[in-house]
Amino acid sequence: MLNVNNLSFSYNKTPVLKDLSFKVEQGEHLAIIGESGSGKSTLLKLLYGEYDLNFGNIHWKDLEVLGPKHNLVVGYDFMKYVAQEFDLMPFISVEENIGKFLSNFFPKEKKERTAELLEVVELSAFAKIKVKTLSGGQKQRVALARALAKQPEIILLDEPFSHIDNFKKQSLRRNVFKYLKDKNITCIVATHDKEDVLGFADQMMVLNNNKIEAYDTPKALFQNPSTSLIASFFGEFNIINDTIIYAHQLKIVEKSNLKATVITSFFKGNYYLIEANLDGEKVFFESKYHLNNDENIFLKISN
Ligand code: ADP
Ligand code: MG
Repeated sequence: MLNVNNLSFSYNKTPVLKDLSFKVEQGEHLAIIGESGSGKSTLLKLLYGEYDLNFGNIHWKDLEVLGPKHNLVVGYDFMKYVAQEFDLMPFISVEENIGKFLSNFFPKEKKERTAELLEVVELSAFAKIKVKTLSGGQKQRVALARALAKQPEIILLDEPFSHIDNFKKQSLRRNVFKYLKDKNITCIVATHDKEDVLGFADQMMVLNNNKIEAYDTPKALFQNPSTSLIASFFGEFNIINDTIIYAHQLKIVEKSNLKATVITSFFKGNYYLIEANLDGEKVFFESKYHLNNDENIFLKISN
């Protein structure tokens, strides 16, 4: 397992991460979430040994992950890291990029492995295409497949689907996370997209103010968000009587002591998100139907 103890790090004088401790089991999926600049990418790079820690240590099983001061070649065989900025070989084909680190002594295995991974990232039809002609999202998929070519024990993914369009994203996510689970590969994914977390991650870490603000299952954090930051990750919410209430927890009723006036209805597909005025405060709730502006309604908190 991965064991992180009292990790602290800064690039210069300003601390980026302060005193982080956590564990990730073999095969477990951890999602790291946090606002832009909260240190998600930095944490992944530290786990990979790209920088020296100011304090603390990182172990994978019995081995200590060391930074460049103590480890001349950055990185380890058991671990793969797919950065936000992926560097591929532009002038060779997709399949050559994926198979680049696979041995030529076993051509049959190499071919099968490459074909399997092309399927996972849904690029079989592009096997022979030169990488330089691909879109950003396609390149990101090649980078993912390449990281998986020599099966790692642990994979670090930095916003792995950020360049991929919505048409492909859902199925790709399912393929990739299922593949990692099936192979019992430990996965740590930095993301600001709840879709990368819900239904996939076993544990979720919230980074804020250089620290771990929360660490629990996505379900526990969704059902009981202890801070506005956590609630905002999952969706629109309100603070009513000092309590976090998601938009979907407010229901329209015939009569109640929460009287609101509709400001705007936003079409969201299978519901409308309604912005309304409740005693001079903005409130958000969901409605099955479109509501007219200035319409008065009554709300009730339910779960
Ligand atoms: P995230 O991935 O959550 O957006 P980062 O880990 O990229 O956050 O950045 C965390 C903080 O560290 C930010 O304040 C950022 O400006 C700073 N930072 C990131 N990379 C460097 C670097 N190479 N040198 C100096 N500061 C950096
Ligand atoms: Mg980042």
